[in-house]
Amino acid sequence: MRALPLPSAISANVMTMCLNGTTDAALRARLQAIVPNLAASAASYQANAVAERLDLQARVPAVGGVSKAELVALYATHLSATKGSARAVYDQIRNAAPNKKCPLCGVGTVAVLDHHLPKAKYPDLSVVPANLVPACHFCNDTKKARFPASAGQQTLHPYYDARLINGRWLAAAIDRGPPVVITFAPSPPPAWPLIDRQRVERHFAICGLGTVFASNANDELGPLKTRLAALEAAGGPAAVQAHLIEEAASHAQRTNGWQLSLYEALAADPWFTAGGFHSIA
Ligand SMILES: [Zn+2]
Repeated sequence: MRALPLPSAISANVMTMCLNGTTDAALRARLQAIVPNLAASAASYQANAVAERLDLQARVPAVGGVSKAELVALYATHLSATKGSARAVYDQIRNAAPNKKCPLCGVGTVAVLDHHLPKAKYPDLSVVPANLVPACHFCNDTKKARFPASAGQQTLHPYYDARLINGRWLAAAIDRGPPVVITFAPSPPPAWPLIDRQRVERHFAICGLGTVFASNANDELGPLKTRLAALEAAGGPAAVQAHLIEEAASHAQRTNGWQLSLYEALAADPWFTAGGFHSIA
């Protein structure tokens, strides 16, 4: 997970771009008439997101004389379409993720924009920049059109939830096998408020992070075994543990990245450092 700054694009400007690209005069007039309603939806979204209560955002079937399908189509017609009238906003938001790393998992490569609250349920938010988050295909596909029915069901929002994104809650566990297999689970501090704990658990589950993190961590074990065997030959278990502690420290910046949790768990397991690593496949 990575926190990102709120996009600088303003919702009102995006709506103007969409209107400019609408050639059907009758549709343009109907859209023009609901601009204040859409601005109100965006303002409500901002207030709920800041309050960490996007579960309170109203789900609307349509707005004024504009149908749900027409609202949803604004996104495909004007933002994601290569020659859409608001494509510049799409590109700006998608390119805002440093090194194209997906902010939802911190592992995949950004490919698309994810509607944080799905446009199928919140068509009035289909082109609101604050609701558009760069994402990898895996996260976008796994998340689908899920929406929060309660405060605890809110997945982590890269623009608003730096507090939870940067708070430590990921843990790795070692299955000794043989072969050694690493698994991941959310493990927020018991002292955290219930809703915060539910939210990181929900994010972990909805984005399939257990699968993503285990795939990466277990793939790293083969080369690590070679390295640890050489260190053991030269300096015994102490050298093995020192290397794992050093690796963990080098990844400390990514609070809930799989690397930090992996190396911390390995360094803290006396069985592993005393030779258990030879059970890596
Ligand atoms: Zn992702």
